Amino acid sequence: MDATTGIPPAVTEETEPFWAAAREGRLVVEGCPSCGAESFPPRGMCRSCHARTLVPIEITGRGHVYSLTVNHQRWLPDLDVPYAIVLVEFPGHPGVRVAGRLRGVPPEDAAIGMEVEVGFEPGPGGCAIPSFVALPGASG
Ligand SMILES: [Zn+2]
Repeated sequence: MDATTGIPPAVTEETEPFWAAAREGRLVVEGCPSCGAESFPPRGMCRSCHARTLVPIEITGRGHVYSLTVNHQRWLPDLDVPYAIVLVEFPGHPGVRVAGRLRGVPPEDAAIGMEVEVGFEPGPGGCAIPSFVALPGASG
């Protein structure tokens, strides 16, 4: 019914810094100066100590697939299905897991633990949607 169900962007006051950075091709999460915890998705409040003064922290390194699912649902008319949706962890950023479409490999080649780089794709409403690019040879 809703063509965009399952595609993230709900731009709110809390998530605006994330989408602004995404449009520039940068992945940012919320960092808490009080306790050091990092939170994603953005919610305007530290998930650990509930502080509301947060700073954006940019994630630049490679990540690893923590879990994955294969989507067969054609959310958008020009979407190629099936494709893998992966949940990615980043070394040095405990507590942060980012979901996105996996590109660069067929969905059947997606694997837990494979190394990926974050990328962004144009999404609804001018948003840039995080997705991930499989690194050649990373899956062994
Ligand atoms: Zn905190």
